[in-house]
Amino acid sequence: MLGNNDIYIKVYRCLTDKIESLPMEEVVKMMILSEINIDFHIELLKCQTIIARTRIVKEAKCFGGKGYSEVEDCDICDRDFCIEMINNKYIKDKWGDNYAKNNKKLNEAINSTKGLIITYNNKPIDAKYHSTCGGATENSENVTGNQITYLRRVLCDYCKESPYWDNKRDFFLDEIEDKLRIKFPNITPSLKSEIKGFIEEVDKDESGRVLSMKIGGKKFKGTEIRELLGLNSTRFSISPAVISFNTQGKGHGIGFCQYGGNEMAQKGHSYYEILKYYYTGIAVKKYNKPSIKKPLSGKLIMLDPAHGGEDNGSEGAKGMKEKDVVLEVGKYTKERLEDLGAIVILTREDDRYLSLSKRAELANDKKPDFFITLSLSAFPNTSVNGCEIYHYRGDKDSQALGNYIMENLVKETNLINRGVRTAELFLVKEVRNSAIQIFIDYLTNPDVEEKLADKKNIQKISKGIVQGIVSFYKY
Ligand SMILES: [Zn+2]
Repeated sequence: MLGNNDIYIKVYRCLTDKIESLPMEEVVKMMILSEINIDFHIELLKCQTIIARTRIVKEAKCFGGKGYSEVEDCDICDRDFCIEMINNKYIKDKWGDNYAKNNKKLNEAINSTKGLIITYNNKPIDAKYHSTCGGATENSENVTGNQITYLRRVLCDYCKESPYWDNKRDFFLDEIEDKLRIKFPNITPSLKSEIKGFIEEVDKDESGRVLSMKIGGKKFKGTEIRELLGLNSTRFSISPAVISFNTQGKGHGIGFCQYGGNEMAQKGHSYYEILKYYYTGIAVKKYNKPSIKKPLSGKLIMLDPAHGGEDNGSEGAKGMKEKDVVLEVGKYTKERLEDLGAIVILTREDDRYLSLSKRAELANDKKPDFFITLSLSAFPNTSVNGCEIYHYRGDKDSQALGNYIMENLVKETNLINRGVRTAELFLVKEVRNSAIQIFIDYLTNPDVEEKLADKKNIQKISKGIVQGIVSFYKY
């Protein structure tokens, strides 16, 4: 089944703390095994195969992904991909007599979709899936905070027959207190408090014996309750002990609904139709073979030199203008990034004015992996200098990229690190993909102005930014 052209994925094995090189399709097989019920329809298995492959291509370093960040030179972690326990023995034990039959079915799903992944704008998607959506899948921003174009809400009652469509779980009050680290008000068992619709109109004698009460709208004598419920005495009190949580569906609800997809398959839909239904606007195509020499292969980076045209930005004492410096940095950076395989777009390539909203619009149209605004700072106190990088709150990728760029800028240029922080800047907020704004240094500082006049220093700044981007994808 495997040929010489197969790609090997470096898998970190959590249990043995070792890196193992496994053929890609072998990893795909292990992933599906951990994620599906083998009795699912063959078209559903094909969907799940393509989803697994997409996840590997998106993550693995050899395809230009981030790789597994905890271990150097490693593509994925077996625990993150839920395959740490899956091996031949596990499968044989699990399937028993059905081993041959099931194995054949699984291999058919893998071989008939060989090399296929799900893409959006020619890039592998974040192929999120779950067990049962329970009526409709969810918009990504409602769960993860990030609005992703292909992870939109779609109606789905295909999963109605799923065992997870409707579920109930009961919790004792002290269990809830424990799990949520809270304390309910102390309820002393009593008959004074009524629970509307449940327990009402309690009447008892002087010794505390219940004479009568209404339960669920029906009146009972104390003696009847004692007999019907098998209580020891009519001298009783009541207090709540259990709260039930009724759930619909299972999982985060984003993207692909497994049980729904299975039902679509039963109804005669192909894997392509099913994937198209749950992932909005996607394509299914063969992945590109990884390139080792070009670590940024396939990455789309948008560089945004601030200001331009009549808008000079900040100015130095000797007349240097921010708009010119950042354009120069942008052009050098573009060249270097392209050498490493990235596709780079500059929001402006010459001295022209562009409004902030126009810049955001360009970014949201092109959907780059990163949108990077290049700018300089100004301050009345001319002795202040140093670099600041801003990202949008909660955007972990941008924060990580900011840190890598800062680290490399400091290394290349001896800039002062004034911090990588969150801010509500227009662009980092309005650009829907990951975005950062770099304030390289303070142009109002005369020493900085002098340094920036030297092309060598501009090149060093570019180098620092590029190294930061490479590091981000490497680790
Ligand atoms: Zn569903």
